[in-house]
Amino acid sequence: MTVSLRSFNTLGVDSESDALAEVDSPQSLLDAVRRGLDAGSAFTVFGGGSNLVLKRRISGTIVRCSDEALDVLVDRSDGVLIEVGAGYNWDRLVQTCISRGWNGLENLVRIPGTVGGAPVQNIGAYGVEIRDRFHSLVALNRHTAAWQEFSVEDCHFSYRNSVFKTTGDWIISRVRLALSRDDAPVLTYPEVASRVAGSNPTIVSVAAMIGAIRAAKLPDPSLVGNVGSFFKNPVIGEADAERIRRQYDWLQVHPIPGEARVKLSAAQLIDRAGWKGYEENGVGVWASQPLVLVNRGARSGSAFLALAEKIRTDLIDRYGVSLELEPVVLGQD
Ligand SMILES: Cc1cc2nc3c(=O)[nH]c(=O)nc-3n(C[C@H](O)[C@H](O)[C@H](O)COP(=O)(O)OP(=O)(O)OC[C@H]3O[C@@H](n4cnc5c(N)ncnc54)[C@H](O)[C@@H]3O)c2cc1C
Repeated sequence: MTVSLRSFNTLGVDSESDALAEVDSPQSLLDAVRRGLDAGSAFTVFGGGSNLVLKRRISGTIVRCSDEALDVLVDRSDGVLIEVGAGYNWDRLVQTCISRGWNGLENLVRIPGTVGGAPVQNIGAYGVEIRDRFHSLVALNRHTAAWQEFSVEDCHFSYRNSVFKTTGDWIISRVRLALSRDDAPVLTYPEVASRVAGSNPTIVSVAAMIGAIRAAKLPDPSLVGNVGSFFKNPVIGEADAERIRRQYDWLQVHPIPGEARVKLSAAQLIDRAGWKGYEENGVGVWASQPLVLVNRGARSGSAFLALAEKIRTDLIDRYGVSLELEPVVLGQD
């Protein structure tokens, strides 16, 4: 049997696998993993497919989590602790929390994908990362079918990374988040701070504003295939940043508190190198946000990887800065 994966990745490229298993509860996940281990067959976990670059074929079974449980574990006057199934749509969760007065996720509004996919790259936007609201999660070891609890320390969260992304050993089943009842939006991100200056921002107004900024900058994956940022922002030593800035005075440098390293804007480097709007082999560089590569007719993830490699090499030659891919690459050509 062959299963087409085209509708399961937001890049909208063709890929195929041998079988598909939908799991809608911790028990059905455990059953699927045990069956896979008994049969000696490989399996790969998909959430919403919004951070995947798929090559032509992925051997074995695709496991998709569709567990949409949402339970309140602790309900106090100052906040709640919720437990959410891995298959719950992330943006739907953010909207649900806002409407119930459970605050803290609003800066992460309109990020596609599932709750189970969110801790994998420690999703972040507009000054907040999931680790800031994270309590714990429960995951299944794909090699032993044993359950394990993860605290925030166990997850080794860092910028767009976690133990789940680096090892690939765990299938996340349920995620617990600690949310507040304070109407105190996070305004640390400069663009957010400047837009609300002089007003009396609330959780609801900040969520609406960030939603509008995102809609203006980012392509809607239901209309134009993409996975959001194709590259991470590079983190380099202060001395290297100074060397580049002596040659390019436009360079934005963002200090990292407590570190002798700084973060650069990958979008600015790609833009200044002239890639905005460039297109080849059905893959384009989005004009309003050059970190995003978009599908203009490409059938394979490899076409995206080829253009990404060209951009990466160009930036090494120009600035001596090496970009890392943000999405996860799966399969073989
Ligand atoms: C328009 C657009 C905007 C975006 N904006 C942002 C942004 O602002 N910030 C940001 O951080 N990301 C952003 N992203 C990237 C993406 O939405 C997130 O990384 C999202 O959390 C991926 O979730 P998913 O369910 O789609 O995971 P998938 O893409 O299906 O999978 C991604 C990885 O997670 C693994 N995975 C998925 N589910 C599980 C599970 N239950 N257990 C274990 N592993 C799992 C997969 O195996 C794979 O390795 C954006 C993407 C798009 C298309």
